[in-house]
Amino acid sequence: MPRRQKQKAFNYREYPAKHYMSAPGICRWCNKEILDHLGELNKKKNWCNKACVTQYLLRADPKMMRQHVFFRDKGQCEDCGHVWRYMSDPWEADHRLPLVMAFGDLSYWEPDNVRILCKDPCHKVKTKEDNALFKVAAKRYRCEEADGG
Ligand SMILES: [Zn+2]
Ligand SMILES: [Zn+2]
Repeated sequence: MPRRQKQKAFNYREYPAKHYMSAPGICRWCNKEILDHLGELNKKKNWCNKACVTQYLLRADPKMMRQHVFFRDKGQCEDCGHVWRYMSDPWEADHRLPLVMAFGDLSYWEPDNVRILCKDPCHKVKTKEDNALFKVAAKRYRCEEADGG
């Protein structure tokens, strides 16, 4: 059987705002106008300051998000209470409201929606629950489509 070229799958984990570009001179995070020293719109810039870049990266860059959550929660698994000491320990960042259900809703990427779970079993159990939830939602969606609604 000839090999089909693999199409790049839709990545539901990717922060959708990565694909929205603001107008030149408008901050991609806070939407404020970026002015130069003459008080005119600085069209070469897309960020008004570093804090805005950080806010964006906390959502768009999984590494930054992981780091943020680890220090915020002091390494503690929210489910069983185990405390991990290192970033490299077997814990995972879990989205309480699973990204697979986000369908472009940016609030799913808020750091408040992210917590620490032990890789095994805490996150494994949660992922199973998420997948079951997604199956139900996908089924309902398909039914609604078939109804023409
Ligand atoms: Zn800004
Ligand atoms: Zn745990």
